[in-house]
Amino acid sequence: MKNIIVAGNWKSNVNFSDAEDLIVEIAENSEDRSNKVEVIICPPFVYLEMATDIQQESNLFIGAQNISSHENGAYTGEISGEMLKSMDVNFAIIGHSERRKYFNETDDILLDKLNMALKNHINPIFCIGELLEERQADKHFEVIKQQLENTVFKLSKEDFEHVTLAYEPVWAIGTGVTASKEQAQEMHAFIRNLISEKFGEVIADECFILYGGSCNASNAYELFSQPDVDGGLIGGASLKADEFLKIIDAAEAVTAKS
Ligand code: PEP
Repeated sequence: MKNIIVAGNWKSNVNFSDAEDLIVEIAENSEDRSNKVEVIICPPFVYLEMATDIQQESNLFIGAQNISSHENGAYTGEISGEMLKSMDVNFAIIGHSERRKYFNETDDILLDKLNMALKNHINPIFCIGELLEERQADKHFEVIKQQLENTVFKLSKEDFEHVTLAYEPVWAIGTGVTASKEQAQEMHAFIRNLISEKFGEVIADECFILYGGSCNASNAYELFSQPDVDGGLIGGASLKADEFLKIIDAAEAVTAKS
């Protein structure tokens, strides 16, 4: 069985001292774990230096929540791929539904961001997901296919191999309404099949497809047990160390049973 990835997206939460306590507690409690579960913490940009310092003594990975679509230059307020790389950041979340909705990030912009990350050897965690009305209108498969075709399917095979996907139905994000294990499995299998058609079976099998959307300590085990769910992207439940550690425990339990 492949590894499971548990990634925490802190979004725009937590002050510096709470952030430090949170990451230290997660790092300390991750020391004796198997290397079958890869834990990625994505704090706000301003805490990345602190996080990468702590990471050096741990087995965690650190990710950014965003990346500029531009190179360095006259783009006030933007954080470039080169900057992130120079801070030992390993991953960047790209295409989160909140960035699509509140910051008008289109598929074209997201493709530029993907290319900037890959150029700087940062692994994208690329989010896709349908709106509630799209699911209710039975358009969810079509929407996901289009999102993939407009973005990651425009990458070369070699670049795509560095991409982790996160299926995050927008109606499940921060709502407490989780996709059922059947809904998650059905969509993940659909996505893997599309990857197989585009890049071949080996790359499809190796691609990590995470589930995101109100994943927590109570539902992580059943979600991660699905054959095509390779872990989770966790928002709210990553902000409390004990809850997040229980999700990591659930991932460990899934890897242990196979
Ligand atoms: C997210 O924002 O990526 C997410 C999955 O949030 P939550 O777990 O809070 O639904």
